[in-house]
Amino acid sequence: MSYKCSRCKRDVQLDEYGGVRCPYCGHRVLLKERSASSRKQTSSDPVAAESGPHSVELGFEFSTTERAETVGAAVRVEVNEVEDSRATVSVTRRGPTVVVEIEAADLHALRAGINSWTRLIDTAENTPPGH
Ligand SMILES: [Zn+2]
Repeated sequence: MSYKCSRCKRDVQLDEYGGVRCPYCGHRVLLKERSASSRKQTSSDPVAAESGPHSVELGFEFSTTERAETVGAAVRVEVNEVEDSRATVSVTRRGPTVVVEIEAADLHALRAGINSWTRLIDTAENTPPGH
């Protein structure tokens, strides 16, 4: 599987059940672009390249499966509370990794979704357990 680091933007190859961590900068948030238009945009029509839907998969690796489950559960609550007609979000967990899938109608909504969900995971992760 080919992911892209959300910090240094390098391409990262991962085993399906391997850890989610950038080997270049150590960042733990990797993006997996799943839209058919993930090929290099050589099209001369930028409007066509911007047309959706677009989807991306964010992987967040935690030190333990329990921690991932706790954060995943907290984020899942947010999914139900955030009403966004332009984007669909689903949260799943694979071992110690929380996977957030975002499907958006356009690239602006996709970028906004990536930013806000990355922030949500960071916030949830930095909340001490048991408090
Ligand atoms: Zn990186």
